[in-house]
Parts: sequence; C-alpha cells; structure tokens
Amino acid sequence: MRHFKSTIAALLAFSMIFPLASCRKKVSDKEFEKKLTRSTRTETTEPTETEPTDTEPTDTEPTDTEPTDTSSDPSNNQGLNLKSPVPEKNCAIEIPQDERFHYDMDLTLDPSNNTVSGHVVASFFNTSDKAWDELCLRDYASLFKDSQTSGVQGSDGALTEITNIKVGADDVTMRRDDDVSVVWFPLSKPLQPKEEMTMSYDFTAKIPSLKDRFGVYNDVYNVTNFYPILAVCTEDGWSHEKFYNMGECFFSEVSDYNVMLTVPSEYKILSTGTETKTDVQGDKTTYTLSAPCVRDFVFCASKSFKFFEGDYKDTHIRVVYDEAHPASSEMDDCAQASLKAAQDSLAAFGEAFGEYPYPELDIILAPIEAGGMEYPNLIICTAESFYCMKNSYESIPFEQMSIVVAHEIGHQWFMGIVGSNSGMEPWLDESFASYTEIVYAEYLGLTDQYDHYSKKYMDLSSTAIHDSLKSMDQIPINRSYYSFSSENAYVYAAYEIGKQALYQMEECIGREEFHAIIREYVHRNAFTNSTEDRFFEVLFECAGQDNQELNALVDSVFER
Ligand SMILES: [Zn+2]
Repeated sequence: MRHFKSTIAALLAFSMIFPLASCRKKVSDKEFEKKLTRSTRTETTEPTETEPTDTEPTDTEPTDTEPTDTSSDPSNNQGLNLKSPVPEKNCAIEIPQDERFHYDMDLTLDPSNNTVSGHVVASFFNTSDKAWDELCLRDYASLFKDSQTSGVQGSDGALTEITNIKVGADDVTMRRDDDVSVVWFPLSKPLQPKEEMTMSYDFTAKIPSLKDRFGVYNDVYNVTNFYPILAVCTEDGWSHEKFYNMGECFFSEVSDYNVMLTVPSEYKILSTGTETKTDVQGDKTTYTLSAPCVRDFVFCASKSFKFFEGDYKDTHIRVVYDEAHPASSEMDDCAQASLKAAQDSLAAFGEAFGEYPYPELDIILAPIEAGGMEYPNLIICTAESFYCMKNSYESIPFEQMSIVVAHEIGHQWFMGIVGSNSGMEPWLDESFASYTEIVYAEYLGLTDQYDHYSKKYMDLSSTAIHDSLKSMDQIPINRSYYSFSSENAYVYAAYEIGKQALYQMEECIGREEFHAIIREYVHRNAFTNSTEDRFFEVLFECAGQDNQELNALVDSVFER
C-alpha cells in the first residue's frame, strides 16, 4: 500500500466442484514435504490502529535484458561479484504444480443493497506438524460495521452473515472473537498433519459506502478482503493479528481460485485471475474466472469503466477509470501514464527479480483515500496521486508521477509472489515495494531524483544517523507494526528507511549484484510465505559475510 498525507504527495466460481463427503485424505510424505517447503512460519502478536504519511521519490539509471529460466545453475553466478549462484536476469518464475489450497466461489454482487454474497467451498490441508482442532478464518469485512473497528470514518457496513457451515461432513456452529474479524470453525475430529479436508459456507457481506479499498463510492465498487478466508497456521498457531487500516496486515496461503461472479449486466468488472466464460441471463451476467496460485481474490465493478489496454510480453494490462465521475478532465492522461508505468514496471521488475508469471494485470484508478493498494493481479490507485504530485513537483516528468503505480506493481513480487506476514514483518513487503520505486526510476533513467537515498547524503550506518533515527523510533526497521510507538514511526521505518536501507545495500554490493541477490531470494521463496531470516540467508550467502560496509549497514538498521 502507498499512502499520503493530505497535502504533500506521497510520491512518491461456482459451487461444489469439491465432494463434501469424506473430505479427509492423507497427502503423501513426498507431496507434503513439497507443500511444507512452500508454507509458512511466523509469530503472533498484538496490534493497534491508524493513519497515513507521505514519502518521496528519487534515483537512477537503466539496465538491459535477456531471457532465461528459473533455476540457478550451481556453477553460475552470472559473472557477478557474488559467492553463490543466482538466476539470470529476466528469469521465468514458474507457477509450481504443487497441490495447493483451493477455493470455489459462486458470488453475487447486489448493488441495490450494497452486498456481496456467495457460496464458498474451500479444500485445504493441515500445513503444520500439529493436529488442528479448529480452523481460524479472517472476516475483515465485518470490521467495517463501524468506524471504531475498521479505523475508517463513516464505515456503515455490517457483521458478515456466515451460514450453512460444513466442515468435512459436519454441520458447524462458528464462534466469533471480540475481534470480529476472527472467526473459528470447530472440528469434531482433529485434522492431522498432512490431512486434507473441505469446508463450505454461505456468506453475505455488506460493502460500506466509503472511498476505500473496501467500499462503494460514486457507484464504483472496490470489493476486496470481502469473504471469510482461512488464516495462516504458523509455528505459533493460527495467525490472527489485529487489523489496521494504515498499510496492509493481510496474510494468507497461495491458493487456486475458481470463481463465478454474477453482477447486473450494466456493470463491468475487473478481477484477480482471468475470465474464461461470460454468460448473460436476463439482466444478469455471470463471469467465470480462474485465478491459479494467488493469495486472494478481489474485484472492482462500475457501470462506466473506460478501458485502456496494452501488453508486456505475455501479460495483458488493463487500466480503467470511472468515466461517469472522473476526478479531472485529465483522466485519460493518467490512464495512459498508468499503462506506460505498468509496462515499464513489468519490464524493470521482470529483469531485476524474474518475470511476472501471470497473464493479466489490472489497474483501477479508483476513489480511495490512500495512494494505492495492491492485490493479486490487480492494483487500485487513486487518481489524486497523480495530481497531488503534479502540483507539488512541477518539474517531474509525468512518468515519475506514476511511482505509486510502480510501487503497487512492485508488490506483485513482494506480497504476491513472495508472501509474508505484513503485520509482523511489514518491512518484507513495504520496504521492498518502496525499493522497487527506485528500481523503476533506475530503469527509466530518473535516478537523480533518488539521490537523497544514497549513502552520500545519509549514511544509515553512521552512528549519528543511527542515534537520530533510533530516537525517533524508526530503527530497527525489522519489527512488527504493533511495536512502533507511533504510526509515523512505522511508516517512516517500513517505507522510507527500509527503502533507503535496501538502496544502500545496492550501493555496498553493486546494483547488478543486488538485483541478482533479490532474484535468488524470489526464486527460492516464490509462492511461499517468507521471513526475514530467509532474506538474510540469501543476502549473506551471495554477498559473503566479509563485506564490512554491508555488515555495518545491516547492524545499524536491523536488529538481528
Ligand atoms: Zn505498499
């Protein structure tokens, strides 16, 4: 997510494919090992709530390209000054064939009542080494029943109705925590490690009337985090950190989604995944959508989306805004700039981190308060992010104003492909997504604007800088959201200092080398939930333990 404070611009389905009966089946040891390597670990903690901040841009110079494929040949460090093999630039990131969680959803958007409802069938398996005697689901939509629980003024949603719950063959009565987003389904018989099972339920969620990532405003629907989704079971049990609005705290397993989505025919939709069929029945249209290997499913709808389309290699890109309520007469320019930014981002990040592995990417220039928000295959950016910047930075080229688009697309790698627990290790997605802004600017040759992230201007390993940042609680950056003393401290740490730290690592190691290290990190952790230990393991394995400059930087900024 990208936020900005008021003035300064933040640059900166369908049912029942799955047999409900006898839903328990053991996964073979080999399969399970594969699954486990693609699973999680994390910690649990206590949260809080909030409001945003801002940022700024800057930096650099381009690069080149070549194709390749995923794996790192053990003898190949690409001629770089690295101690260990790395994948080549533009390597493919293959969608693995492993068995995954699976959601079949038959959804209906009802604009007359501002609800989204549906029948969900989810199949999954116990990823942990302990038996599960209950399942934890996250129902974020219920938080929008009022402003206090959502943290968003004007929330007028409702508790999600969840009915007809079946877990395995059992009818189940759910339990909701005081934190209404935490829902438990008891199991009559514990689910053993490796065992598979299926659950199903019906739900109706109210979409709040909000200019928000989850909300409807001027008849544009942002329908995100709307259905109860399985939480992640970590070494410490089910992860259910407290929701906060300032940033993202979502955490789920990569899954395959088959969705049927019915909307009034006058609405156009964009969603995670690709459309495989459209069926018009009377005044309703049902879209069949397939979204393999993603962490979530979201969609946006409006009667008057205006489309701008283009491609990057095998990925089709669509940018839309709501023509009925354009934020300004220059929306066509914003949409075109977003399309260009998306193509440039996919090129820059594909080269640096490995190619975007999905066939589609959608960008909705929508009414939301934050600068932007990332979801699998789909990002939401506010049009105001362009105009805010235009007013504040007249000298900046228009492409540079698309930095919010680049940031959210950067999350397709750091959140989407490589997942993490955003609440507990926010720097793993936000610092990396913020660093992608620099990679994007480097690709466009706009490096100058990022000079102030350089060691030359603010050496994070210097004692004076360290002490100063520490006094503002912005260091160490590798802490949970909940442990910062203020929202500002969190934002500066996760977005700004994190971005700066990663850029200064690039300076210590070399740009080509650092990109290659991140490629290796992405390659090793693609479609899993990662942890900071996994990043540092790759960093030091490739860069070595004896780079004093790097060691001093890491020691200063991180607590390890
Ligand atoms: Zn972000």
